[in-house]
Amino acid sequence: MSISTINATTPHLLGPWRRRCQWLITLIVLALPWFTVGGQSPLRLDFATLSLHLFGQTLRIEELYLILFFSLTLALVFLLGTLALGRVWCGWLCPQTTLNDLAEWLGRCLSVQIDGRRVTGAAWRQFLRQCAYLLLSLLVAMNLLWYFIEPQRFLKALASGTLAPVAFLALAICTLVIYFDLALIRRLMCKEFCPYGRIQTALADNATLTLHRPAAEAPRCIECGACVRCCPMDIDIRLGYQIECINCGRCLDACRQVMAQRREPGLIRYTFGTEDLGWRALLNPKILLLTAALLTLMTIFVVAVVRRQEATVKVALSHTAPSRLLPDGRRVTFFSVWVNNRLAVEKEFELAAIHVATGSAINLRGVPSPIRIAGGKNLPLEVALVTASGATADAIEFVLTTDGRKLATANAEIAKELPQAHGH
Ligand code: SF4
Ligand code: SF4
Repeated sequence: MSISTINATTPHLLGPWRRRCQWLITLIVLALPWFTVGGQSPLRLDFATLSLHLFGQTLRIEELYLILFFSLTLALVFLLGTLALGRVWCGWLCPQTTLNDLAEWLGRCLSVQIDGRRVTGAAWRQFLRQCAYLLLSLLVAMNLLWYFIEPQRFLKALASGTLAPVAFLALAICTLVIYFDLALIRRLMCKEFCPYGRIQTALADNATLTLHRPAAEAPRCIECGACVRCCPMDIDIRLGYQIECINCGRCLDACRQVMAQRREPGLIRYTFGTEDLGWRALLNPKILLLTAALLTLMTIFVVAVVRRQEATVKVALSHTAPSRLLPDGRRVTFFSVWVNNRLAVEKEFELAAIHVATGSAINLRGVPSPIRIAGGKNLPLEVALVTASGATADAIEFVLTTDGRKLATANAEIAKELPQAHGH
């Protein structure tokens, strides 16, 4: 771009785009628990049923391998994003940064100056700021819990005073931790404590997107210090790349604004690597290998989720009702059966029992027909298996069907030693 064409009053700034990204992510995080996909939250970990609701799919604890696959996929997305874009996540998308920006904005609205660790302003204004932080912390904590308890149920229970003590305790602890973070820790978290920042330092290489003032631009610098004053991490970008930099782009905007007054372009810019290798630097073996691994993992995960069984059945001899011989010689064996509907919607099932040796159906009592189970729910049943007098086959197969389709089976055995029953 020719220096003479620079408009002195309207430099192209990244700040508005960064704020749009932050608002978008905040709205998504706030609104997501309120939506439903297939009757369930798009993303919720339900401790009561030990299952993860994931965009219309319900993954139960028995399908832990799928949850691990999902976590691994997310970890690879982060690794790849960090390798290619550095700490762009920290500066543009991370909730911690957004909360800090919001906390500083609240301070400015109340005429309280926050400069690093130093906070100045009238006592009553500082008190109001603390109240605002507490309210914000409560909202964030509630939003966090909505990923474990449906927001409608949560708010109703909170309003009526019937919120479970453990949920109430979690709400109180989360609120206090977030308040402590906003009131005292703030950017120190990104500088010193956040493990992601440490990982990023280890991952960055000469192709990672970074923000700096190229050495060739140094002679044009007027040493105004605007890039340092605006930095939330107290970095002097003129000294070169520093690991605390969260790639937020504030210094870039500040420099562009200063230099626009002189009808010159800014000195600070994003480049792939400090050597400005261009976007082709991303086509390096490390990134290509990680991309291939991510795509493979995502494909396996999606195929495994889509093709998994719609329902499962588990069977065990009943602990509460001992099996016995009826006076007419027939055998009654009691089983505990668990049928799990893995679909997101309610479904009707049929359960039957078959002698493995003969292939003939056996009389099964106590089973509703059809068995109606809500999406993602597990239904326990106590059933009785009545076998004819003199029956010899002990191996039984329980068969779960829907619409005439066989979905799942479970094997069981009739108890061999049976006491004589005294009644019917
Ligand atoms: S804002 Fe730009 S011109 Fe001013 S000190 Fe920083 S790099 Fe130099
Ligand atoms: S150096 Fe620039 S990009 Fe890095 S944290 Fe400071 S203002 Fe943001």
